[in-house]
Amino acid sequence: LSATIRQHPIEVIKQLMRNGVMANVNEVIDFETAAKLTADFGIEAKPQPVRSAAQKKKRPDQEYLKHLPLRPPVVTIMGHVDHGKTRLLDAIRQTHVMESEAGGITQHIGAYQVEVKGQKITFLDTPGHEAFTAMRARGARATDITILVVAADDGIMPQTLEAIDHARAAEVPIIVAVNKIDKPGANPDRVKQQLADQGLVIEEWGGDTIAVGTSAKDGIGIDELLENILLVAEIEDLHADPGASATGVVIEAEMDKNRGAMTTVLIQNGTLKVGDIVVVGNVFGKIKAMFNDQNKQIRKAEPSTPAAILGLPAVPNVGDTLTVATNERQARLQISERAEKKTATVTLSSLHEQIASGSVKELNIILKTDVQGSIEPIRTSLEKLTTEKLSVHIIHAGTGNVTENDVMLAIASSGLVIGFSTGIETGAQRLADAEKIDIRQYDIIYNLVEEVDKALKGLLEPEI
Ligand code: GDP
Repeated sequence: LSATIRQHPIEVIKQLMRNGVMANVNEVIDFETAAKLTADFGIEAKPQPVRSAAQKKKRPDQEYLKHLPLRPPVVTIMGHVDHGKTRLLDAIRQTHVMESEAGGITQHIGAYQVEVKGQKITFLDTPGHEAFTAMRARGARATDITILVVAADDGIMPQTLEAIDHARAAEVPIIVAVNKIDKPGANPDRVKQQLADQGLVIEEWGGDTIAVGTSAKDGIGIDELLENILLVAEIEDLHADPGASATGVVIEAEMDKNRGAMTTVLIQNGTLKVGDIVVVGNVFGKIKAMFNDQNKQIRKAEPSTPAAILGLPAVPNVGDTLTVATNERQARLQISERAEKKTATVTLSSLHEQIASGSVKELNIILKTDVQGSIEPIRTSLEKLTTEKLSVHIIHAGTGNVTENDVMLAIASSGLVIGFSTGIETGAQRLADAEKIDIRQYDIIYNLVEEVDKALKGLLEPEI
């Protein structure tokens, strides 16, 4: 209905609520209700004969999912340094988590859950797009929704732009928290304008970006922010099967002096139980004990729940995936199978072949330049190279040296990095070498564009 009347689903749900209908995004509403709703938007509805089942498009995977229970959304907070990410995470935790009785000290295990109106939300504790993309680079998609924190007295800054691009590359919806509205110099309207310049047009201006004014310091807007997370979660329609064999992703891992390897996993599907044999990255072990975000011992963990597990012989990497094996032999088999499954990276010299074989349909480019003024001409010239077989996307552009973050984004998006009159940080080069990410450097726009063009056509001279 929302698509037909060209209104954002959130607007439709809100209007239904105003009319006293508590509907979710998948609700079937009758003609009367729909007609009243469209009338509220100035559109007259007429009944149409029902189409036969055969005429309806079938989406088998979604059909299957629809019968499974909803799972809590997993949220990551991103934004520029000092805009209040950590304080916001603390404010949410303080107001919505029941602290454990013993002195109110809750151990941080890398994520925590809050309950809002009887529904759970999981927050990842490590703020920032760096952690987010590092996980994606390892193949893990842990986040459902991003909260972009922008300080109202400072506005959009370079890392805000980076965060937007990283969230977009992952196709994760963004909710904006315009923070520090308590400060005398706060100018939320300026932030909203800057967001609109980035294509994030807020709802009150006719767009579909939700922005909430917050003060992490005074606890203002926190409830509204949480309610909007639930709203977006509903639209995202997040299901999981608690009855399945558990899968998860490592969000924190460390060596505990007394207990050994402590690994926090976020359960993505299924239910993890004490006694399960799990394969995590390239190690496996039997789960001896599990703890929740309240440091309480638990026997099982369901989808979207963070759980600290004991029983692995070594500390795995953040972003490693967890699966359950029926026995040790199968666990070993899983590890060897995983080692073989490495996705091919995109390089300029192999590009033509990859296009021809159909393995690459998009060329994702991370562009770094010395000055802001170079970005637009290069972006325009590169995007013009788009053909029927391959579309060229600049998924992130910024000034300064090529950083580790840029390479991470290239890994996560199967892209390559182009530097224009700029250097490469040592760590970035090391990571690129290890992960076989192509970093190309140019000083003349013409050469840059010509080389990419040649690569697309398979005319590039082989590298010596
Ligand atoms: P992060 O780097 O994004 O994690 O930022 P922090 O959460 O560490 O906050 C940076 C500084 O801004 C700290 O001194 C916070 O106390 C302060 N701060 C955070 N949120 C607010 C807010 O809503 N109002 C005010 N006045 N200060 C805030």
